[in-house]
Amino acid sequence: MTGQSEYSVSRRRMVEEQLRPRGIHDPHVLRIMEAVPRHLFVDPTFAGRAYSDHALPIGQEQTISQPYIVALMTQALELTGDEKVLEIGTGSGYQTAILAELADRVFTIERIPSIGHQAKERLTAMGYSTIVFRISDGTVGWKEMAPFDRVIVTAGAPKIPAFLDEQLRIGGTCVVPVGDPSNQNLVRITRAEDGLREEVLCSCTFVPLIGREGWSQGEPG
Ligand code: SAM
Repeated sequence: MTGQSEYSVSRRRMVEEQLRPRGIHDPHVLRIMEAVPRHLFVDPTFAGRAYSDHALPIGQEQTISQPYIVALMTQALELTGDEKVLEIGTGSGYQTAILAELADRVFTIERIPSIGHQAKERLTAMGYSTIVFRISDGTVGWKEMAPFDRVIVTAGAPKIPAFLDEQLRIGGTCVVPVGDPSNQNLVRITRAEDGLREEVLCSCTFVPLIGREGWSQGEPG
């Protein structure tokens, strides 16, 4: 059985060996990645691999993202603590927890009910109180709660989400993987007065974003 202190050592190594050398430099992101117990977001059978450099299964063919990608996306959002964030793809809730630690409020949407309910139970039990959960198709955003200062999409989208035009605040930022179902570019989008500016951060592979403005279920990957 792995003890809590062994997990702390693994987290520190994860930060020093996987995050810092690859350009994660935001001290707030590094501090939170070292603090949040990722092993509590996976099935106990995977807990020993929770701090390894890869994604892990969370059931229903979905994954908890690789620690580096979680850190990179979080750093790209440049959170200061005051933001209202929309997350599409709650998954295990790990990225949600990281966002909740660094922003004011997080609105998170998951399309698979069992996954969304488990994440809500887990995060509530851990004491997170600034997260609002929803089970629905996040490809259309969350109109009633808009506008958002930041948007993060944690599944691979076929195109830049159209809802950003209305739901992302001017000056706000979105991070989203865009491409085909098996390979995407991680894109940072900033909403300026005159439209959206795009910047490619890296290539990546996420599970597909499925929904009205995403991929159809069963589309070949
Ligand atoms: N960030 C998560 C974590 O830390 O565990 C990993 C998210 S996982 C890679 C992507 C999630 O997006 C899956 O749970 C999937 O069910 C969800 N998803 C896919 N399409 C969606 C949609 N249209 N709306 C909301 N969630 C969606």
